[in-house]
Amino acid sequence: MQDEIHTETFVENYRSALSNAQLQKALAIATTKFTLGRGMAVASVGDEWNLLRERAREIKEHSIANLDHYLGKFAAKIEELGGRVYWARDARDANAYITGLARDRGISLAVKSKSMMTEEIELNHALALAGVEAVETDLGEYIVQLAGERPSHIIAPAIHKTRGDVADLFSEKLHVERTEEIERMTALARRVLRQKFATAGLGVTGANFAVAETGTIVLVENEGNIRLTTSLPRVHVALMGIEKVIPRLEDLAVFLRLLPRSASGQKMSSYVSFISGVKTSPIDEGPEELHVVILDNGRVDILANEHLRESLYCIRCGACLNTCPVYQKIGGHAYGWIYPGPIGALLTPQLVGRERAENLPFASSLCGACREVCPIKINIPDMLLHLRHEIKEDAAARVPAPARASNRLGRRLEALGVKAWRAAMKTRRRYERSARMARLAQSALGNESMLFNRWTATRDLPPMAPRSFREEWESRMLGTNNSKDKEVK
Ligand code: SF4
Repeated sequence: MQDEIHTETFVENYRSALSNAQLQKALAIATTKFTLGRGMAVASVGDEWNLLRERAREIKEHSIANLDHYLGKFAAKIEELGGRVYWARDARDANAYITGLARDRGISLAVKSKSMMTEEIELNHALALAGVEAVETDLGEYIVQLAGERPSHIIAPAIHKTRGDVADLFSEKLHVERTEEIERMTALARRVLRQKFATAGLGVTGANFAVAETGTIVLVENEGNIRLTTSLPRVHVALMGIEKVIPRLEDLAVFLRLLPRSASGQKMSSYVSFISGVKTSPIDEGPEELHVVILDNGRVDILANEHLRESLYCIRCGACLNTCPVYQKIGGHAYGWIYPGPIGALLTPQLVGRERAENLPFASSLCGACREVCPIKINIPDMLLHLRHEIKEDAAARVPAPARASNRLGRRLEALGVKAWRAAMKTRRRYERSARMARLAQSALGNESMLFNRWTATRDLPPMAPRSFREEWESRMLGTNNSKDKEVK
């Protein structure tokens, strides 16, 4: 496998994103549009919205707590309907199975619908090594594939590109006259992709939901490309994480109301496909072979961690990305892997290894906006805090003994500082005296003193005002200059 994980360079990544004016413009337009759209769609549901979120959370809690039961039921049903199930341990295992299928059937072209899971296992690269051309058919995903990039958003892969960027890209890669007209660009992509659909032997999709009761794979989309991917090629492979299973068909009603509203502000997605088994007669729609690859790839470890298990409730709507003040400024690529934003900061360290992504849980202001918008009420801020704690504990255990002693001293000093701060804030008199002393200390020692230099290495410590607000106010309103000598009650 290629190593497409760039989480270790997170600091360089976000600095470069912050200085990219074009990216800042594209992010501002797209996240504002998504956030406003979601707000209106949610408002249209009224008070029922919170009831739906609570119900969805209950279903997810129940499904994840009984995962072995529901996965077993789902797999048995798929096989009963003529499909095959492959349990993949990790990315290598899943790639080997899918490329093996293509090789055994002499397939040289695969069409793919947008799937974060195939990005996670780098399936395109594995297929290319096996001599199979893989073509993305979701328009945004097709754009990033043409650009040789990776998606920067869970539901809008090309969110970082402006219309002008796409016009340049199409003209360069497809050798056509440059146009910024969206209809003409879309028609052009459609012409190219229809050819691919007509000749591909393999269609690869993810799965939004897997219904245990009926063995149904549910796919939600707006472009119709998933419908074609799952019905035209002879072989359909659906790749899903173990967490996608839900118990019953009636549970879907809850998720199908929450997902499009949270994702794109739509009441309903344009297409919802229910795939149950293979075609049974030549005039039926659908593939001759259906293979469902159920992937672990680190999820069982998440399941075993009671503090972080909730990360498996995610339905990948992307709402937490759009509302996150960090994502809004740095975009998706800065996170260094395929899952960006708050949910990425949480999932990535768990899936690629904490030591490779230890900065990500700290890339959050913990403002709680992600939890507010999440349709499953996932408590991302609390889990980020827990991950931070685990990462710091692991790092402390790796530190040699003398440095550990110095860190301990640092922590004690910090605790003393907090105690002193609490004491100073107890009464107004103490607060004002402490402020005067701090002002004196700052002017005597300066910001570059040993006391401040670690703090100011990455932050500004602005000079304190010569007089407090209250002193300034009294001086102006009462015409007095000696407010600090006044008795404070
Ligand atoms: S964590 Fe919640 S808001 Fe974020 S993508 Fe997942 S379901 Fe959507």
